[in-house]
Amino acid sequence: MTPILELRGITKSFPGVLANDHINLSLNQGEILALLGENGAGKSTLMNILYGLYQPDEGEILINGEKVVINSPTDAIKHGIGMVHQHFMLIPVFTVTENVMLGDEAVKQAGFLDRPRAAKRILDISNKYNLAVDPDSYVRDLPVGVQQRVEIIKLLYRDAEILIFDEPTAVLTPQEADELFLIMRTLVQQGKSIIFITHKLREVLAIADRIMVIRRGTVVGETLPENSDKNTLASMMVGREVNLVVDKRACHPGEVICEVQNMVVADKFQNIVVDDVSFEIRAGEILGLAGVQGNGQTELVEALTGLQHMVSGKVTLMGEDASKFSPRQITELGSAHVPEDRQADGLVLPFTVAENLVLCSYYKQPYAKGIVLQYNHILQNAEKLIKDFDIRTPSAMTSVGSLSGGNQQKVIIARELSRPIQFLVASQPTRGLDVGSIEYIHKRIVEKRDEGCAILLVSPELDEIMELSDRIAVMYRGQLIATVENKGISKEYIGLLMAGVVPETPIEPAADHVIEATF
Ligand code: ADP
Ligand code: MG
Repeated sequence: MTPILELRGITKSFPGVLANDHINLSLNQGEILALLGENGAGKSTLMNILYGLYQPDEGEILINGEKVVINSPTDAIKHGIGMVHQHFMLIPVFTVTENVMLGDEAVKQAGFLDRPRAAKRILDISNKYNLAVDPDSYVRDLPVGVQQRVEIIKLLYRDAEILIFDEPTAVLTPQEADELFLIMRTLVQQGKSIIFITHKLREVLAIADRIMVIRRGTVVGETLPENSDKNTLASMMVGREVNLVVDKRACHPGEVICEVQNMVVADKFQNIVVDDVSFEIRAGEILGLAGVQGNGQTELVEALTGLQHMVSGKVTLMGEDASKFSPRQITELGSAHVPEDRQADGLVLPFTVAENLVLCSYYKQPYAKGIVLQYNHILQNAEKLIKDFDIRTPSAMTSVGSLSGGNQQKVIIARELSRPIQFLVASQPTRGLDVGSIEYIHKRIVEKRDEGCAILLVSPELDEIMELSDRIAVMYRGQLIATVENKGISKEYIGLLMAGVVPETPIEPAADHVIEATF
């Protein structure tokens, strides 16, 4: 059978990076092909070539066995190729129908908008593929999962046969992701063909018919979900054995480094969002702060790092009353912060990697003499950290904004962990990262603990909390509802606490019963 799509020897380089190196790929009709790879592996580049956004340096594209040239998205659509981007391209104040009609060639040629007919067609498409989209609703009123389905309708409306989904689940809740998988199944049952891009192992195993793994621009293997598991896929992706379980010795807590007493924090509407919270963290231990997102964790971290004022309460860091300290004063005490929103709070995107690596210390020796920055020292520091922390960047002078999310996060981790610190606040340190980077960052955090650093780890990922923490505090509606030793307790127990229920006794761990799907 001739594949519906074939890519032969596709090669594309950007300054300093070979993003795609002679990639061959074939897609059969009615199949879901997963393209799995770490951040920066070259997945989006390949798909942007297929969609006509980039031109390949070499290689060819065949559709139903015929060579085609795709110079633009318009060409791609003419050949039946459609792409659902990570960032939607919808106009919020328009209805679904208006959004779908927008830019459609047929509409342009006819020169007028036949809304009722378009609405009818959208409804038919929605019904045929179980998309449950109302053509008359305004896009701004739709949840993200439904907006994504509008993007899918846009493609089907233009008769796309090959659908490309680039990391579609990144913006979805776990429930929305499951709904999307059902839709993808319906699409292929009705004869469409799908390329599904992801770096999440669970997802490829759940939905793919066939899996292709790419690493650093080349195809490193192909497999079927039934013949593989998370560990083999992770190793293919990263190119070495990956430990999905963190290797961690018993902890030996020392003196109290961080003490929070009766902390109260309000949000901008004056609602109390951190309500009389007290805890302490000792040198050499990791306290995991668990909780469903939005239960006050963000504000607690902001108060602890000087980004927000407390209404009342006391914070003592390294023996000093830091209750009214600014972020810089807290940094100077010897504390570090890996922020939740790395692009907004952790990096200056237009600055170079080298500059971002000294953001906390650029005004001091050896990086500055008076007001003159010492570029040779800044560069030396960067070269060392790029190597030590395996930051994938064309050079130290590349702007941080052009790196992949995983590498941006490594820049922050490198900067924060390479300083002599006694206290680390790590907020969702691995959000959106692939397994290779997650393993790496987890190892670094545990190393820091073993060096005697006190660590507060904040994460909505229960797995991460349970793997790394020595003690776990659970936050619910602004309060710490329990703090427990992370020994012999089950996920169910923490899960119940996260839902605000305090069980009488910690439930014994049940090996085969996993509740991660609930959260
Ligand atoms: P993925 O989608 O697998 O995360 P990408 O295809 O986005 O990876 O990136 C592959 C490599 O190409 C990365 O090193 C990235 O920094 C680089 N890259 C991607 N797009 C551009 C661009 N427009 N200019 C320069 N470099 C780019
Ligand atoms: Mg990508």
